[in-house]
Amino acid sequence: METKILDANIEKSIELCADVIKSGGLIGVPTETVYGLGANALSSDAVMKIFTTKGRQPDNPLIVHVASPSDVGLVVREIPAVFEILTKTFWPGPLTLVMKKTDAVPDSVSAGLDTVAVRMPEHPVMLRLIEKSGVPIAAPSANISGSPSPTKAQHVFNDLFGKIPYVLDGGDCRIGVESTVVDITGDVAQILRPGGVTYEELVKVLGAVEVFAPLNSSDVTAPRSPGMKYRHYSPKAPVIAVVGPAEKSAEFIRTNIVGGCKCANHSEIDTRLAENPKKIAALMFDDYSFDNPAVVCFGACSDHKAQAANLFDSLRRLDSLDYNVILAQVPEQKGLGLAVANRILKAATVVENV
Ligand code: AMP
Ligand code: MG
Repeated sequence: METKILDANIEKSIELCADVIKSGGLIGVPTETVYGLGANALSSDAVMKIFTTKGRQPDNPLIVHVASPSDVGLVVREIPAVFEILTKTFWPGPLTLVMKKTDAVPDSVSAGLDTVAVRMPEHPVMLRLIEKSGVPIAAPSANISGSPSPTKAQHVFNDLFGKIPYVLDGGDCRIGVESTVVDITGDVAQILRPGGVTYEELVKVLGAVEVFAPLNSSDVTAPRSPGMKYRHYSPKAPVIAVVGPAEKSAEFIRTNIVGGCKCANHSEIDTRLAENPKKIAALMFDDYSFDNPAVVCFGACSDHKAQAANLFDSLRRLDSLDYNVILAQVPEQKGLGLAVANRILKAATVVENV
């Protein structure tokens, strides 16, 4: 199969892709968070193709995308009281709600759970595609599982060439990190994955919100959301997440890049460094970067929006430069910084505190 990138501004492109969805196929679709790999959420056969195409573990459930809050009735059996205020405030947008599912949702979507994760995206192309297809669309990120999520049509093309017929090009993803996943089946809403809607924004609306710990660790031993237990978002080169005040992490990275990396005590990284101790790269805040070809910047230290928008593309760029180890600065875990830090920590092989 030859994969083609289609211009989403042309109506015919959306029609072609809707036909593929209707006939049980897969499409690369733009959303405001990251590009998705979409299929008819009501067809078990179509959804199974998502797992094989991405190499995704079958116990990691998918998000179902709808075109309007009124469409959730098809997939959700009990609508909790907070649904209305949350959807009025944050939909369309990067908030995914976990609720009790109906029998219309195949077990492959929910990974056998009795709940389903639902979101109404904001991207007009995704909304048009759902409407034209006439079914909700299940979609995880359109990358090979474990690698950085795609935020450009070209990323999807690079990862899934030959495996899907079309990628709808709707431009670069505005937000750049995935949605916030919130379980609203209990008395208090619980954030299972930080994302485009922040903890602070949710607290403003709901008063009380629990954060499922540990979101800020690369070692998630007791996942409530099945996807949390896997290493995610990782470039090919192992990542060392450098946690601490920005001046300190920058200084640490500078010393290690200039003098050769001595920080790891981890077999995967030691082996890589033994192969070539000089091929160390860094992901840094604009304001702390220094003139070195091995440094890729992903936004100012205080600009969490820019960091989110640039993170995955930066990790992919570092991969294409063929480095052995990547040292990464980690933002303060506030606002959108919580989601950015979570992605870097989950991508990391080692966390270094400075
Ligand atoms: P992705 O498709 O990679 O954006 O991942 C979707 C995220 O939503 C993963 O972390 C899943 O574990 C989580 N998720 C999806 N459905 C459910 C569910 N029913 N209960 C809890 N978490 C879910
Ligand atoms: Mg993903």
